[in-house]
Amino acid sequence: MKAYINNIAHPIIQGETILDFVRRIEDRNAIPTMCQDDRLENFGSCRVCSVEVARQKDGITKTMASCHTPVANGQYIYHNTDKMKRLRKNIVELILTDYPSDKIFAPDDKIPTEFQKTIAQIGIPNIRYPKGDNHLDIESDRAHPYIKSDLSQCINCYRCVRACEEIQGEMILNMSGRGFATNIIKGFDTTFDESACVSCGACVQTCPTEALTDTYETKTLIADKTVRTTCTYCGVGCQLDVSVIDGKIRGIQAPETAEVNEGHTCLKGRFAFQFYDHPDRLREPMIKKNGKFEIVTWNETYDFIATKLIQIKNKYGVDAIGGISSSRATNEENYLMQKMIRVALGTNNIDGCARVCHAPTAFGMQQAFGTGAATNSVEDLKDTDAIFLFGANPVKGHPVTGAKIKQAFMKGVTSIVVDPVKTKLADLATHFLQVRPGTNVAILNMIAHYIVTENLVNQDFIDTYTDKYNDFKDHVIDLDMDELSELTGVDKDVVKAAAIAYAKADRAMEFHGLGVTEHFQGSKTVMLLSNLAMMTGNVGRKGVGLNPLRGQNNVQGAADMGVQPHQGAGYLDVNDPKIQQYYAEKYGIAKMPEKEGLKIPDMLDAAIEGKIKALYIMGEDTIMTDPNSYHSIKAFENLELIVVQELFMTATSEMADVVLPASSYFEKNGTFTNGERRVQRVNKVIEPIGNTKPDGQIIIDMMHKLGYDQPTGLTYDAANIIEEIADVIPFMKGLTWEGLGTNGLQWPIKEDGTDTKMLHIDGAFKKGKGTFHHFDFEESPEIVEHGANYPFILTTGRELEHYNSGTMTRRTDNQSILSKDYLEVNPRDAKIKGITDEDIVRIFSDRGSVNIPVKISKNVKKGILRTTFHQPEVFINIITGSVGDKETMTPEYKVVAVDFEKV
Ligand code: SF4
Repeated sequence: MKAYINNIAHPIIQGETILDFVRRIEDRNAIPTMCQDDRLENFGSCRVCSVEVARQKDGITKTMASCHTPVANGQYIYHNTDKMKRLRKNIVELILTDYPSDKIFAPDDKIPTEFQKTIAQIGIPNIRYPKGDNHLDIESDRAHPYIKSDLSQCINCYRCVRACEEIQGEMILNMSGRGFATNIIKGFDTTFDESACVSCGACVQTCPTEALTDTYETKTLIADKTVRTTCTYCGVGCQLDVSVIDGKIRGIQAPETAEVNEGHTCLKGRFAFQFYDHPDRLREPMIKKNGKFEIVTWNETYDFIATKLIQIKNKYGVDAIGGISSSRATNEENYLMQKMIRVALGTNNIDGCARVCHAPTAFGMQQAFGTGAATNSVEDLKDTDAIFLFGANPVKGHPVTGAKIKQAFMKGVTSIVVDPVKTKLADLATHFLQVRPGTNVAILNMIAHYIVTENLVNQDFIDTYTDKYNDFKDHVIDLDMDELSELTGVDKDVVKAAAIAYAKADRAMEFHGLGVTEHFQGSKTVMLLSNLAMMTGNVGRKGVGLNPLRGQNNVQGAADMGVQPHQGAGYLDVNDPKIQQYYAEKYGIAKMPEKEGLKIPDMLDAAIEGKIKALYIMGEDTIMTDPNSYHSIKAFENLELIVVQELFMTATSEMADVVLPASSYFEKNGTFTNGERRVQRVNKVIEPIGNTKPDGQIIIDMMHKLGYDQPTGLTYDAANIIEEIADVIPFMKGLTWEGLGTNGLQWPIKEDGTDTKMLHIDGAFKKGKGTFHHFDFEESPEIVEHGANYPFILTTGRELEHYNSGTMTRRTDNQSILSKDYLEVNPRDAKIKGITDEDIVRIFSDRGSVNIPVKISKNVKKGILRTTFHQPEVFINIITGSVGDKETMTPEYKVVAVDFEKV
């Protein structure tokens, strides 16, 4: 199959447009374009990309928009004829009649916009028509902290409108008016900040002029350098191009070549970077003397910590020391942290913030499949027939993946949402199961029951690749659907329809979030989700699987690196003498600690009992983020030494004896692993601020002070640490700094450097056969013990604008977009309590009380409350409880027995 460019034959690729074809054969600029963007559906409105096409050599030609005309066998394409040049010039001439004349050329201190480049490519036309005034008079909009518009420069290409819809799925931007008077509107509002815009910046990035820009004017900046790195916020792991001028970060764009985010980000990744040089950044090491922090030298700080740790070790034994590592830090830093605690100090008391989020995912999936990580890749969304979203609101928590899921929902994929809150995605879903918080096991048992009774199981898959299905089947078949329907609050017919839809899809993908894991039965819920995938054969193929939406940027990586008390780097069991020997040889020491360590909740209890005397914390605000804050405070008050490495003074670092100022992710090299097991490079953008050091450097310095010299040398170098990681972790054998390239690699990474997009292909489970488990629903002790006195169930979730405790996002303009936590209350409950919108209520539990403003919302059912936890003024964890997942102790943030009253 061949087509011809200027009478020369070239092979064509099925599905290509003429534009793609010519660009592939010649170069990207072979045909000028204006309304075309590779990330958007082809639109063909501007006609600048027009070409002449004939059915035979030198035959009669037709003029066609190359961007949306498929290339065909035998076509003769003439793309740069005089006629086409005149046509393009004429189109631009018409546009320039209503375009500011001082914006036709870029000034010397700016990069030309795409439109300015197009004008230069086509040639400046003589403007023969009368000047229009339809756009020139539109007032600029500068009210939004990040996005501004100057519609005098709008050329009506619709790219922003299409990006808003096709990339973000929001449809905030639209076109109003006709002909020359057509212009952009922001919903029914006049400004971005009044509209429902989610500030993702997709419109800004695609706009080919300066009609839409960010307040940093990133796309026209002449930067000293632009460095590609990985976003620090969520587990999506977006790639960012960071522009630097005079050592300062001046703007961020989303690289279109990034496999993860394909030229898109949310407002956190793109805009929320001002925290990095905020005046509140910790810049010097400090020791608390007589109750006040005093600045000291790094050496004094290290000596102080080492002396105290050795004293505690000698007096109380090594297990009186614990370490808490950070999912915000790099893999290399987490690896070093667990190594310091295990090797330089000699205890397995090392844990991380996976404990308060996805530990049940790792545990539950290990029980079912043998591997506790996402089975597939997010790109599989393009190849699935059904999406089953359970206990997650990715539109807010994982915005770029959320936008992709939203796109799929809007395009009509079978969609099932299980959530106690009516989220945006729930609104769009074909099946929404608004479940009572805490009854996840019950609803999954119902779904399984209907799949079995409707004969929709994949018996071949079950027989060939799994174990213990019959026990599970016998269990679910006998369950009383009426009873479970009453318990869950979801009509059994609604559950049945969802179960049938999931099971009938040829390829169904499951996604789950903290609405699954942060429960008393969290691990069990993960195992039941795994059952669903196995019983329907939705494992080991493209467009299927179980895909946990990992919360923090590197929560997957921290666990991979051994930040767990029971498994070392690479998930090897620290209780096994052979594994202890393996690590001892790799680390060059005589003996590894033999006793399994304590999880964070155990460490806090042990501190209260006087058994833990020192905590070394890297990048965690335990007091703010762990449940039952008074309990955590009591534990911390009982410690003899608290060391905290941090970017800012937090509730936890306020309680520390020593604070070590750490460098942010912009200031160091390393890697993060996203939710699809993709290890991606974090590249240093600027030098460390003030007297800060990367966490990895601080840990190496401390190891040295504690008598262990890190074999890779005394300087933290991510590439060297990666070499060591590849040597220790069996499934990362082929990992190298260079080999990661710009889009990273998904583990397992073979010795030759090839990576793995999908696990368990053809039923090849790591544990041999996939295992079915079965469980009955059990009411949470939180409800059993406190439900009578505290009749409302509080559940928690995130907002788009902030990240967890908000330490970073509160120090950016995101705070001006959303500055409060809210309590969502059903209108009927609000009426009973005599409460209206924005009233302040006191919400209280067995643990304490906090005041919070109210948002009346039908998104929650009667008897259910929802809140976020980003603002320290509210400190919601004062009221959350100590109940946790039975297997992993992950706190049950999603079921808190409370009551509330108007203040
Ligand atoms: Fe960063 Fe997540 Fe937003 Fe991507 S979606 S830019 S990783 S916060």
